[in-house]
Amino acid sequence: MDKDFNKADWDFFVVALKEEARDVLWSVKLDVEPDTLIKSALADLQELAPKPEGLETRSQEEIWKQVRDRLVAAAYALRPHCVRCGTCCEKGSPTLLKQDRDLFMNGVLTPSDIFAIRPGEQVYIPEIYQNAPSEKEFLKIKEISDKKACMFLEEKDKSCKIYGSRPTQCRRQECWNPKQTLTATDELLTRQDLLETTGDLWAIIQKHEDRCSHQDFTREIARLSATKGQTVGELLNMLAFDYHVRDFVQSKLGINGAFLDFFFGRPLSQMLAHYGLKLEEKEDGSHFLTMDDND
Ligand code: SF4
Ligand code: SF4
Repeated sequence: MDKDFNKADWDFFVVALKEEARDVLWSVKLDVEPDTLIKSALADLQELAPKPEGLETRSQEEIWKQVRDRLVAAAYALRPHCVRCGTCCEKGSPTLLKQDRDLFMNGVLTPSDIFAIRPGEQVYIPEIYQNAPSEKEFLKIKEISDKKACMFLEEKDKSCKIYGSRPTQCRRQECWNPKQTLTATDELLTRQDLLETTGDLWAIIQKHEDRCSHQDFTREIARLSATKGQTVGELLNMLAFDYHVRDFVQSKLGINGAFLDFFFGRPLSQMLAHYGLKLEEKEDGSHFLTMDDND
């Protein structure tokens, strides 16, 4: 404690610190007493305690953010292993790597369990806290609708339904080690790795990519405002092709509809929402674009 620090202020800080420690222990799923956690980082926490009046330059929020970050680091130092709490599985599903190819061979994963993110598609980039176009193609396990949780997470007890055969990224997940790199870009599994030998289907997928790439889709949307809507026909043609390819492979090739987000990525019509647009159908069956009021 700082020698000028008022004892009552210090006592208040210690009480609040114990509450914060209790909360951190709960979130990190570590079963020790708050005092044990505090003692493990005592010197640092004393440094972070509020300074006497007139000497403090930090806001209360900044102080408690620093304290919490230090407590979280201390908690992970006391628990440097996975306790299978499912928290990382609730934040999102894994991206598949080339090493995960065997999971399809031995039936752990099927085409209906995954979807493709295509180059240029808007994805959330945690490092910059916002959406940006993906530079690469990659495959992910599907997530539970309206949540980010992996579809293999058992909701009632947070266990993994395929734990013994979980993908590589899940095995590498170490919440106690935030600097760890989960994936190198040359490890990413792609549709080509899995589907190149499927003949006609692979040819259709490539044709779809030629006509409906996310780069072209984004360019057409940008052109809409530049041309004051004059080029909307080209965007509607692209949306129609994306729709008809999916319809064709189901009706003519007998492909299961649940495989389509893997073969062709998610429908372009769903992606319109990223740009504040949506597709609507007229009574005669034709389509038009309108602003998405939910944006
Ligand atoms: S790695 Fe994931 S499942 Fe394991 S303890 Fe950390 S958050 Fe929980
Ligand atoms: S596959 Fe299992 S371990 Fe991996 S994110 Fe999904 S639920 Fe979690």
